[in-house]
Amino acid sequence: MPAHVLDGNLYATQIKSEVGEEVRHMVEAGVRPGLAAVLVGENPASQTYVRSKVRACEQLGIFSELITPPESSTTEELIAVVEGLNQRDDIDGILVQLPLPANVDSKAVLLAVDPAKDVDGFHPVNVGNLSTQRPGLVPCTPAGCMEILRRANIPIEGQEAVIVGRSDIVGKPLAMLLTNANATVTICHSRTKDLPAVCRRGDILVAAIGRPGFITTEFVKPGATILDVGINHISDPADFERFFKGDEKREKQFAEKGSTIIGDCDPRVVRIAGAVTPVPGGVGKLTIAMLMSNTVKAARLRRGQSLAPAAEAQPAKPKSTKAKNNAE
Ligand code: NDP
Repeated sequence: MPAHVLDGNLYATQIKSEVGEEVRHMVEAGVRPGLAAVLVGENPASQTYVRSKVRACEQLGIFSELITPPESSTTEELIAVVEGLNQRDDIDGILVQLPLPANVDSKAVLLAVDPAKDVDGFHPVNVGNLSTQRPGLVPCTPAGCMEILRRANIPIEGQEAVIVGRSDIVGKPLAMLLTNANATVTICHSRTKDLPAVCRRGDILVAAIGRPGFITTEFVKPGATILDVGINHISDPADFERFFKGDEKREKQFAEKGSTIIGDCDPRVVRIAGAVTPVPGGVGKLTIAMLMSNTVKAARLRRGQSLAPAAEAQPAKPKSTKAKNNAE
């Protein structure tokens, strides 16, 4: 039986609706959460991403402001922009759209973001908060992965989770989230020996690699849940044939556009897995929803309010510690 498809669109809609409800309550209480997006230069892909984020804010009643410094901006100028936003009370979240121009020290700019407004969750303070299970802001894509697992009622506690990819924005924070939720986590990377065998241990297998169709059926434990984080464009007809031959919908799309999007998993993994996130329509759909959720969370945390349950799936409490786990 083919794997159950985990519908990212559905979960993203649910999360946005819950966040919108929360925003309404906050506005009634006199607080409108606000997000500032800093978009440097004219990168078309970045412009598209930021536009979607601003649109999502508008839909949910979150105040948004787009700041567009020129491509020629220096590191110091961008730090000054961020510091200005740090000071503003109407801004709860600051998003610096990456990549920044090559001449800019991206790490220095991200480090300037007030951790309390760091809705991307990249600041070392928030990385530390996550790893020590303190309240903080968690990177959006890993947070979205956790939402999918929880909303689909996929068991996490006690399960073997294998993550392929150790980036600071996906692999590592997701490993921490899954550990905090009591999974037994293995992180793999380009130097991992016998990767297929390690992956086959995974009741939950996460592919965050950036290589089209890399995870094939031989990597998959029968019945496993697969979260495919990868977003890759393929335009070579030979690659297309290899992955999508016989898929009429894709063939039509490829004929029209000359390219298609594929994740890090070979589509045939559905024959072995129990549940999979599709690409497109899977993990990627939750990233903006989680950014909205983080903005509301930042607005609450900054005001010393507790986190509302609606937009906050509660992680499993570790049995071995009394520490409150509300780090996500
Ligand atoms: P990075 O390039 O930062 O990291 C890739 C990771 O994959 C590295 O840890 C690397 O290992 C590992 N890797 C590469 N090749 C292999 C291999 N042959 N075997 C095992 N491991 C390998 O990528 P990101 O984490 O930023 O992104 C991963 C994917 O997720 C991309 O496709 C990206 O587009 C997508 N993405 C999707 C998002 C969404 O919203 N859905 C958001 C962010 C990313 P090593 O460390 O040893 O080099």
